[in-house]
Amino acid sequence: MAVPYGRKSRAKSRMHRAATMKYAPKAWNACPNCGEPRMPHFACGSCGAYKNRQARPLAAD
Ligand SMILES: [Zn+2]
Repeated sequence: MAVPYGRKSRAKSRMHRAATMKYAPKAWNACPNCGEPRMPHFACGSCGAYKNRQARPLAAD
């Protein structure tokens, strides 16, 4: 199996993610749990819910 010659750095991935989040706000859906806007196929940023389960721990207190 081929292996990528150079993996994208964390900074580069985050740059891409930031650009996607900036320029594609219309693709966002409301979170079914809390109603906050959320990117499709991503856990909710405010409550961490994904597909009717807690995919990510809540930001405690
Ligand atoms: Zn939510």
